[in-house]
Order: sequence, then C-alpha cells, then structure tokens
Amino acid sequence: MITAIEIEAKAKELKSKGYPVISLAIGEPDFPIHENIKKSINKAILENKNYYPNPQGVVELREAIAEYETKRKKIHISPDEILITAGGKPVIFYTIFSLCNSDDEVILFEPYYLVYPYWCKVLNIKYHTIKLNEDGLIPKDQLLKHLNNKTRLLIINYPNNPQGSLMTEENLELLLEVLDKYPRIYILSDEVYSELVYEGEHISIFSYNKNRVILLESFSKTFCMTGLRLGYGIFPKEIIKNLVTFNSNLITGPTTPIQYGGITALKDNEVKNYVNFMREEFKKRRDFVYEKLKILVKFKPKGAFYYFIEIPYDSLEFCNKALNEKFLALTPGSLFGDSFKNYVRISFANSMENLDEGLSRFLSLL
Ligand code: PMP
Repeated sequence: MITAIEIEAKAKELKSKGYPVISLAIGEPDFPIHENIKKSINKAILENKNYYPNPQGVVELREAIAEYETKRKKIHISPDEILITAGGKPVIFYTIFSLCNSDDEVILFEPYYLVYPYWCKVLNIKYHTIKLNEDGLIPKDQLLKHLNNKTRLLIINYPNNPQGSLMTEENLELLLEVLDKYPRIYILSDEVYSELVYEGEHISIFSYNKNRVILLESFSKTFCMTGLRLGYGIFPKEIIKNLVTFNSNLITGPTTPIQYGGITALKDNEVKNYVNFMREEFKKRRDFVYEKLKILVKFKPKGAFYYFIEIPYDSLEFCNKALNEKFLALTPGSLFGDSFKNYVRISFANSMENLDEGLSRFLSLL
C-alpha cells in the first residue's frame, strides 16, 4: 500500500518537471522552522556537540520534555521515562515490538494512521479494527466484543488523523474501565496533533493512567520540524529499559544537534508565540476550506489539519485521476482502513492561494 509521503514524492517529481502541481496530500506544516530553533542547532554544531547522543536521548532534552509534559498532563513525569526517537513513528514500532508476542492481539480504530497496521503485519501480530463514529466516539459494544485475554494493546489517536476528532469524556471513561478490567492491556496514545486544537479541549488518557499508557509525541507538526526527525515516547518503567538498549543497537538516537534544537522548541517564549500564531492560521484555513466545501462536509474538524470527505468514487482511482488530470495531490481514504474506500483526505496545511486553487480543481473533478 502506498503512503501519503510516497504520493507527495510523486507530486514533487511532477512539479520538478514543470507541471502546475498543488499538493493537499501531506500533513506537513508549510511554515518555516523558527529561527531560534535553527540557531540552537547551528550553535550545537559549532560547539562540537556532534558526538554520539545518550541512547535514551540527550539528558537536557529529556529534562525539558519532562517539565513540559508534567505541566501539560498534570502528572509527574521524570526524564527516565522518556525515550527520544527520530520522529514519532518509531514509537509505534517500539511499542508493538516490545509488548506483543505472536499470540497477542492489537485493537485499532478506523480511520487509523497507516503505520499502525503496517507494523502489526510486519511483526506478524493479529489485529482487529473497529470503526469510530464520525465524532471519534468508540462504539462500546464493538470494543467489548473484541476484547479477550489475548488482547495486549489498543492504539488510539486524538486529535485524530484524518477525522480531526478529539478524545471525549465518554471514550476516556470507557478506556479507563477497560484498563481496569483487563490487566494485560496497554494503550498507545498517539497525540502528535495535541497542540493543534481549534475548538474544545485536548484530553489525554495518559494523565489518568501513565502506568499502562504509552504517550507518543513529536516535534514534527507542532514545531514544523518534519524533516529534522524528532519525537519521543513516554513509557512505563518496565518497558523503557529494554527499548533503550534496542535503540542503542539500532540508531543510537536522533542526530545530537537536532536534539539541542528540541530544547529550544520547548523552552523558548518566541517559539511558543510562533506555535500560537500557526494554530490561529490553521484555524483560519480550516474555516476557509469549510466555506468552500460546505456542500460536502457536515462539520469542521476540531483538531489536526485535515478534512476527511466522502466521495461517490473509488478513492484510489479518484486520487490518481486528480493527480494525472488536474495536477492535484490528495490522499485516498482507503489508506485509513477498508471502511473508507470512498473517502479522500484533504490537508489544509497549505497556503490560502493553494487551498483556493486546489479545492476548485477538486470540486471541478467531482
Ligand atoms: N502519528 C500520526 C497520527 C501522524 O499523522 C504522524 C505523521 N503524519 C505521525 C504519527 C508521525 O509523525 P513523525 O514521525 O513525523 O513524528
């Protein structure tokens, strides 16, 4: 199965050949990385901080994350519980790999981020999928039906890619009840869009049971650092020890100077203001897209930067046609689960001009 990044690569290739391509496919902020982050990466290089990093992550970065997350999650987090990774994606693999054996089962919720089933398949772990309601609600009867003594891991994602839904009190209660009743189960909570919330409040289950919840976070979306590859997982103590050794044997860690850039991202007040500015801009774009697509969409996403839209066509065929005939890159809904073969994902992490032109092309094709 092709990924959104591969679609983006194809779009870029066409663009480099001179075609007037607009890509609304990828979830990547179009804002530049803040100058202060760039400066601290350069400074780290000039100060010769170019050696192997600590395999769990540079200590000062883990301290900065512990402080940042303790404040946000309102629960004490220590630097020992944090593993720094090259973007958030490795946390998905590390979690499935360290928790699940061949007899275990994983529960995913559709629409899902493609990386979850990918690693289950590669690691030969059985998974079930449960379709979320449009507003991100987990259907309780479905979940209870799929739970058994083999269930080891549930993977959730709020704010959701691609639905933009948030975790609700109802979901939270249900999931806490599940953790209570099933002592083998862990939850991986993917919260890479936690800073991109336009309405309502981001609730994290991690705040309520950090002994059984793994938190996945990333610098990619919040700080426009997609290409710098910096993310982290916060793991229960019994899991992290082996993962540090594993990380040490695999890549040692993300590039050392980039980790220094991460400290500035979390601590610098100008960067904080920049994140607030970007959130406001994304909100304006979200509202702009809503006005253009009102006939097709029922509500505005509460978080992240996508619209997930039902279309009367097969999504793969439609997206191929959009790219080849209209030079418009979109992400097919089928990437997010079998229930979404007639959906497309449109990213509004793009300029107003590109959104305007891209959406006109989309509508003309419909
Ligand atoms: N989780 C979700 C839901 C995502 O959408 C993404 C990026 N598209 C990631 C994790 C991984 O992000 P990264 O590896 O860039 O940190």
